[in-house]
Amino acid sequence: MDADVTAEFRAWLDANWSAGLTVREWWRRLADSGWSFPQWPEEAGGRGESPRMARVARTELANRKLIGPPDGIAVTMLAPTLLQHASPAQQRELLPQIARGEIAACQLFSEPGAGSDLAGLRTSARPDGGDWVVNGQKVWSSLAHEADWGMLLARTDPEAPKHRGISYLLVPLAQPGVEVRPLRQMNGLTEFNEVFLTEARVPGDRLVGQLNDGWRVAQATLAAERSRVPSAVPAPPAGQRGGWLDRTVGEAAEALRTAASTATRMYSRSGRAARRLALQYDVWSDDVVRDNVVQLHILSEASRALMARLRASPFDGGASVAKLAAAALARRARDVDLDVLGPAGLLSGPDAALGGEVELMALSAHLVSIGGGTDEIQKNVLAERVLGLPRE
Ligand SMILES: Cc1cc2nc3c(=O)[nH]c(=O)nc-3n(C[C@H](O)[C@H](O)[C@H](O)COP(=O)(O)OP(=O)(O)OC[C@H]3O[C@@H](n4cnc5c(N)ncnc54)[C@H](O)[C@@H]3O)c2cc1C
Repeated sequence: MDADVTAEFRAWLDANWSAGLTVREWWRRLADSGWSFPQWPEEAGGRGESPRMARVARTELANRKLIGPPDGIAVTMLAPTLLQHASPAQQRELLPQIARGEIAACQLFSEPGAGSDLAGLRTSARPDGGDWVVNGQKVWSSLAHEADWGMLLARTDPEAPKHRGISYLLVPLAQPGVEVRPLRQMNGLTEFNEVFLTEARVPGDRLVGQLNDGWRVAQATLAAERSRVPSAVPAPPAGQRGGWLDRTVGEAAEALRTAASTATRMYSRSGRAARRLALQYDVWSDDVVRDNVVQLHILSEASRALMARLRASPFDGGASVAKLAAAALARRARDVDLDVLGPAGLLSGPDAALGGEVELMALSAHLVSIGGGTDEIQKNVLAERVLGLPRE
């Protein structure tokens, strides 16, 4: 059976891939045939295949060095939320657009006064002639400057207890009521933003889940965020502002071959990479270095196995465990690589090791422990919701 599906996909690729297609057309073909996300249900634009078959399809794309289906926040965080909580009409309308890469999304949850205590958020949405009108400020909104839609948590019932008066809305970002201001990070990148919402409008049919039940919907987004892994097949940025939809897949494949994605450069240093670094810096014969590199390798393999298990059969608290593991791995990779470099690890700019790759990773490692809920919050989740310990 699996062999039949694989053969079907190979034949489909032979008939459909051509380096002259635009990214838009390639993603449309993949989406319309259900091969973008074969694990999605058929009514949502997938093929109802198992996650394992979806991985087989990804591997086939990777082996042929083709560009993958769209990746990014719309795919990894919004789509799983819609699959769990959107109405059938919203799923039919929105999921195919995500599969075709026509939409990039960002998460508008955190506020200056509401991070770990997210339910304390103050951004408000009031009904107005069938729409919603939103006022407030969000912060740390990753990639909001490239996004078309925001997954917005807003207070719709100020009288209700704080977890109960929140709704989950999809706000179009290209409108006068939305101002996105970039924030510069200590790793030199500008991925974060502040987002100011002033009488911003959200169409009435962009409420996901029930009114005032947004907290429950947000848990799906957070669980998806905490357990997401970068796609094994690189793809250019999706969405109208990504700038890739009307370029050819050949150009995209070439660009992706020469430039690893930012996420890959920031977070995916493994034991193997540390070994290469140790050989290059001539410290591989040092027993302590070898021991550290092996420990890192074990940790990264264990983390990979954990992610695979979590994808194959999700378990209670799995997303928090996966996030804690990813944070521990990022810190360990940073420490091992900097130990290998010794004083050279202090260099920055053009003198930095591997063209700044280690520097970028070292200055980004702590981000994993914070984004999507800090390590402390993940431990609270596990303690209270999984182990049944008393609430703090
Ligand atoms: C890489 C990255 C990407 C992000 N992307 C987004 C995004 O796209 N959209 C978005 O909405 N937000 C985003 N965030 C924000 C992120 O969700 C918050 O930074 C995070 O939830 C922590 O909130 P805070 O920064 O307000 O810290 P605080 O909540 O003020 O926490 C400060 C410290 O206190 C500790 N603490 C707080 N409460 C408790 C508690 N109850 N028990 C124990 N310790 C506690 C925390 O662990 C932390 O160490 C991102 C952050 C990062 C780093």
